Amino acid sequence: MHAQTYMPWHFTIDVDWVPGSEVGLEGLLDFCDRRKLMATIFVAGRFAETYPDLIKDCRRRGHELGTHGWEHGSLEKDEDFRSASYDQQSAWIRRATEAVWKASGVRPVVFRAPSLWIGETTLRVLEDEGYRYDSSVPARRFDCGFGRVHYLKYFGASREPYNLSSYRLSLPGHSSLIEMAPSALLFPINMATLRVLGLPVMTWMVRRISRRASRLVFYCHPHEFVHAHRQSFPRNMSKWNMRGMSPENFSLLDTFVDHMVRRGYSSTLFAGSFGEARASSYEATSRGYATSAQ
Ligand SMILES: [Zn+2]
Repeated sequence: MHAQTYMPWHFTIDVDWVPGSEVGLEGLLDFCDRRKLMATIFVAGRFAETYPDLIKDCRRRGHELGTHGWEHGSLEKDEDFRSASYDQQSAWIRRATEAVWKASGVRPVVFRAPSLWIGETTLRVLEDEGYRYDSSVPARRFDCGFGRVHYLKYFGASREPYNLSSYRLSLPGHSSLIEMAPSALLFPINMATLRVLGLPVMTWMVRRISRRASRLVFYCHPHEFVHAHRQSFPRNMSKWNMRGMSPENFSLLDTFVDHMVRRGYSSTLFAGSFGEARASSYEATSRGYATSAQ
């Protein structure tokens, strides 16, 4: 392997329903233009319904749009796809799909569950709604008191893309939906970790993960780039999180992108990775059966 081998990374943006955060999304779109990043943008349905022109602009600039629940972000008792019924999840996903579709002109096929709270029922709904990719399974992640991932059901899931199993989302299976889990090394590779633990820890985490994974999934939120007092949050939003929200986070993100570029990472979309994901799971299967022949 050469030091500068091309490595794909998914630069993803989770757009929660937080009035006031639209300024942060506008800033992130300019940031992506400047850094030549292709982003996958997961949008809460109500946000798309409220700011359709902004969602259209995401599409116009070449980014990929997915959905992220209906009004996740504004609720004290948030949408929980681990426990909600099929009908409830179907209603959230259907409304969000229609809102993003109507705003952008393209039907979304990529999903990220609010707070990465997902379950096997969600897979059935996504299949029924024509989705093709998911990026919600919290592989190798546990937030230790911070964040929102405090369940270990899918901790052992693969960091490589795989076709989901309807029996258990952490196992490879026969669903047509491909999982690309958000990257984590206990803590996630996201903007909150970058803000709290700093660039040296993040780059160390990226190095560790890149030894075992052929791609990386990073995420950030528009509300992280706007002062908290300019936005509307539910009362139970964590105070440490709100304290760190600022437009200054753009320069921190800039240094992280510099690091990723130096390591040879190049941003890619989920749709563009479909062939690669199929190929790599096929390759893994063939290797499993053909080791004696090599
Ligand atoms: Zn979210």
